[in-house]
Amino acid sequence: MLSRTLLLAAVLSPALVLADEPASNPPEFAECVVRLKDTASERGISAAVIERDLASVNYVARVIELDRKQPEFSESFATYFERRVTEDRIVRGRALLKEHQQLLNRISREFGVPAQYLVAFWGLETNFGGFFGKMPILDSLATLACDPRRSDYFTGELINALKIIDEGSITAEKMQGSWAGAMGHTQFMPSVFLRYAIDYDGDGKRDLWGSLPDALASAANFLRGIGWQKEQRWGREVSLPKNFPFEKAGLANSLPLQQWQSLGVRQTSGAKLPDADMTAALLVPTGHQGPAFLVYDNFHVIMRWNRAEAYALAVGHLADRINGAGSLKRQPVQAPRLSRDQVMTLQTALNDRGFTAGEPDGVLGPGTRAAISRYQKSRQQVADGFVSKTILTELGVLGDD
Ligand code: CA
Repeated sequence: MLSRTLLLAAVLSPALVLADEPASNPPEFAECVVRLKDTASERGISAAVIERDLASVNYVARVIELDRKQPEFSESFATYFERRVTEDRIVRGRALLKEHQQLLNRISREFGVPAQYLVAFWGLETNFGGFFGKMPILDSLATLACDPRRSDYFTGELINALKIIDEGSITAEKMQGSWAGAMGHTQFMPSVFLRYAIDYDGDGKRDLWGSLPDALASAANFLRGIGWQKEQRWGREVSLPKNFPFEKAGLANSLPLQQWQSLGVRQTSGAKLPDADMTAALLVPTGHQGPAFLVYDNFHVIMRWNRAEAYALAVGHLADRINGAGSLKRQPVQAPRLSRDQVMTLQTALNDRGFTAGEPDGVLGPGTRAAISRYQKSRQQVADGFVSKTILTELGVLGDD
């Protein structure tokens, strides 16, 4: 008797009943989708795709949660770099370079982007096709398009995604990716897909999920399109002389290679810098005790793919390693992991002492690093802008241990 009662209760439990039915969309979302259908129609999306695929999109609360989420801790450069350029990724990258040598060589010749860079992007974006993201792209983009924060941008990307479905490259069901709309082997947003994706295997479809030839050729076409310089590297690790003026470091300060040469910058082998008519910027992501890099035009191209210096350094170094190079001569120096509150304390401490770091926002960016560099200079320290444990202790962000 008891068990029958429990069974009955379980059957009638509202939670269980709900779990079997699709969640209903909030009324504002349903209204928004009606407006999106008009927009899609105005922008030339077929009635079939609008009625079948756009009309059935679902609101995903999790997407908004992820969009609002700010990382609680800033990841240090050393941690970021070590997690992305791993031994496993280097070994697999080398094996895949060999396995797909013919295809990669053909693409490299045609687009002017060396194979190791294509494999490096592939490795960093999806771990060589290991994870594409499983979110339904139309649901994610419609949810973000109906949210006020970046509505125009995501409405545009939603329309672009519908165009891709309309052209027959993929069905809405198979169009999966990241919560923010990035898709396939190389995590292209729909706008990048429409402009740069290529049907390289000739089956009539641009398929960045199921066709490696399409995905790698599309990556090469994108890089060429955003300015990849055929005969150039991304940059290289260099060695610096004693008493190097670190205020010259930073992406904003491009100088001719000859000038870096006369400042005493050398290749890590000790050899002179190449005698080329090029400009470069010098980066010291973990200060004067860590590696120094001279970065060239192609570094800026990599940053057009993803606007983070750490990402671009990881792509460049991973590409070198996949191509057979050894590890860095100097390893990145680890720095304390800081919470947003701690970064705000640091910014306030710098501001209070007259080294303007801007409105405290908890984000460790170039403005804060420049303020640290000025602070270091005033104390006759090496002005490399690195947030070391010493600096954090001096400025009262960390206690003495
Ligand atoms: Ca194809």
